[in-house]
Amino acid sequence: MTEFELIARYFARPVHERQGVGDDCALIDAGERTLAITTDLLAEGVHFFRDVDPASLGHKALAVNLSDLAAAGARPRCFLLALSLPPPRADPAWLEAFSGALFELAGREGCELVGGDTTRAAAVGAADGPVTVCITAIGEVERATLRGRSGARAGDDLWVSGELGDAALALAHARGEVRLGPQQARDCERRLLWPQPRVGLGLALRGLASAAIDISDGLVGDLGQVLERSGVGADVQVPQVPRSEALRAVERTLQLRCLLAGGDDYELLFTASPSHREAIFAAAQHSGIGITRIGSLTKESGLRLLGESGIDATLRGFDHFAGTCQGPPSFDPTRRT
Ligand SMILES: [Mg+2]
Repeated sequence: MTEFELIARYFARPVHERQGVGDDCALIDAGERTLAITTDLLAEGVHFFRDVDPASLGHKALAVNLSDLAAAGARPRCFLLALSLPPPRADPAWLEAFSGALFELAGREGCELVGGDTTRAAAVGAADGPVTVCITAIGEVERATLRGRSGARAGDDLWVSGELGDAALALAHARGEVRLGPQQARDCERRLLWPQPRVGLGLALRGLASAAIDISDGLVGDLGQVLERSGVGADVQVPQVPRSEALRAVERTLQLRCLLAGGDDYELLFTASPSHREAIFAAAQHSGIGITRIGSLTKESGLRLLGESGIDATLRGFDHFAGTCQGPPSFDPTRRT
């Protein structure tokens, strides 16, 4: 069963309160304002290693939520934190590092902690229970500039921010699939453990982007969401998809896998009318984030990866519940004990 099948079968119900179903955030009208609400769960053994740096965990737990707000073009307001922690790791050093990085990012993005809950993670067999961190973030959007995944139109340009694939390359390095130099390994690991949510860019693109999503599961998988919801297809010029020098240097199969199906980049993928090109470059410059045009949307459905021959047809995004994942972000946590 895939993650989407699981949701469709057990948790899809008619909703009256919520708009933006299937988008990065639920949208709730509250008087004059529209609230964008999102939640993400990080679990030990699934999303991070047991020996994770608690500072990076605190940062990433909030960053992935702020990334969803960025996709929706929402301004972060506040968040709630639910933390399950086994007693051996509830020590002052762990908590200080975790909370320090969490509040550092929260302060930078103007987002306050307003509530939450903590519990002790019970023992499972001989081992301590796993650490889990769940954050719910709340932002505000302007009704006039609401955007989700369904607004893309044939003829729109397709854009991404930053560079893709380094987070997946860090995992490939950790698994021994590739040997990076020490500096490159550190840079890639930083992309994996300290993702930077593109909040400023998301805000600057209000009224310009017709659809947007943050790339958490890989370019192909997340673009597929936009195409399906918008009822359009896309031509992607693979050689134009931006990548780091480190990724450029690794062999082609792994490079394309990281670039096209690697998760955890948290860059923005967005679509916009070609008439907005100048305004979009200005918005990106204003927010200090690089952007690249990687293709365009077509009436003809389906995703065509152009400019590279022989791309593995099984490349796709990461799915937590599918047994046949081909993408790199799935890893065996027992490899590092
Ligand atoms: Mg998202």
